[in-house]
Amino acid sequence: MTKIKAVITNAPDGGVSVKTIDAERSNYKVLLSPIYTGVCGTDRGIVSSSLKFAYNPEGYDYLILGHESICEVLDSKVPEFKAGDLVVPVVRRPGDCVNCRIGRQDNCSDGKKHEAGITGMHGFMQQTFADDPEFLVKVEDKSLKEVGVLTEPLKNVLKAFEVFDTVSKRAVFHGKDSTVLGKNVVVIGTGCEAFLYTMMSRELSFNALMVNRHPLSEKIMKIFGDLGLRFVNYAEEPESQFSAGIDLLIDTSGDPTTVFNFLRKVNYNGVVILFGTNGKAPPGAFTGADIDYIVERNITIAGTVDAAKKHYIQATEYLTKWHALYGEKLENVITEKFPPENTAIFTSRQKDEIKSVIEWK
Ligand SMILES: [Zn+2]
Repeated sequence: MTKIKAVITNAPDGGVSVKTIDAERSNYKVLLSPIYTGVCGTDRGIVSSSLKFAYNPEGYDYLILGHESICEVLDSKVPEFKAGDLVVPVVRRPGDCVNCRIGRQDNCSDGKKHEAGITGMHGFMQQTFADDPEFLVKVEDKSLKEVGVLTEPLKNVLKAFEVFDTVSKRAVFHGKDSTVLGKNVVVIGTGCEAFLYTMMSRELSFNALMVNRHPLSEKIMKIFGDLGLRFVNYAEEPESQFSAGIDLLIDTSGDPTTVFNFLRKVNYNGVVILFGTNGKAPPGAFTGADIDYIVERNITIAGTVDAAKKHYIQATEYLTKWHALYGEKLENVITEKFPPENTAIFTSRQKDEIKSVIEWK
């Protein structure tokens, strides 16, 4: 047994503490140590016990938190990995449904998958942990030691665009020049996930606009501005901002009132991607007029969650490209680094936060 430090909660009751625990670390295929672990709304929802679907692994009265990470290989007994490699472990682990059996546990059809640091499986906020090579994604570019922690949130975006590709085939979506140049994407929200959706929308040649109903601090405006991203505080901007309509609406807020406000601006054959979850948002007024609008315009609304290993790989490729293009400007998206002992990172969103991370070494 080895003594290791871990950040734990008791799901679904919540709470957070840093404990030293005894762990078996002699029998492994790949032994890992996190460099950074990211904190997001899911971690905060588990800690505050507002996300009731979280649960401890079988036989444990605690859950080690952490699903966003960039890790270093300490030792490997398999040829695919060697000490010093950078890797990102996959969050969802398969159950035995038909989708899980083909590596698509992101589309699990009976809910029996597990999620590291969320549902029935310890997460990555521990000094060392063992994993199987099947669930590890190698990050070839060693300069991604910091921004590699964005691989996990970015993989969600790549899966969402796979969903978009599928549902947008029901009618011709692109323009007469075969591209999506001039097509408008509106991303609701300004957190890390919204930021990554906006980066990817622009990468795919869309006109991309991030919206929120409050102003952003100067610091955040500068980080987005340095990356050439556009933001509108829709509480203050005139409706004319959206007069060309929206071809692809992406929600990261989970707020029904906001979603339906923007849905009424979606163009013919448009697509709405729902990604945000927010059990605390007040109910929105979804009317018969909304249904008429959606039907008459052939609008497709699609929910999307998690992603497959192939999307993690694509995420590392885009991060490599963006890091080469933007360097420090991309690194600035990691707005704060905490030591594992400072659990304040879990209790509230930090001021001027895009992505807060825990630094393990
Ligand atoms: Zn399944």
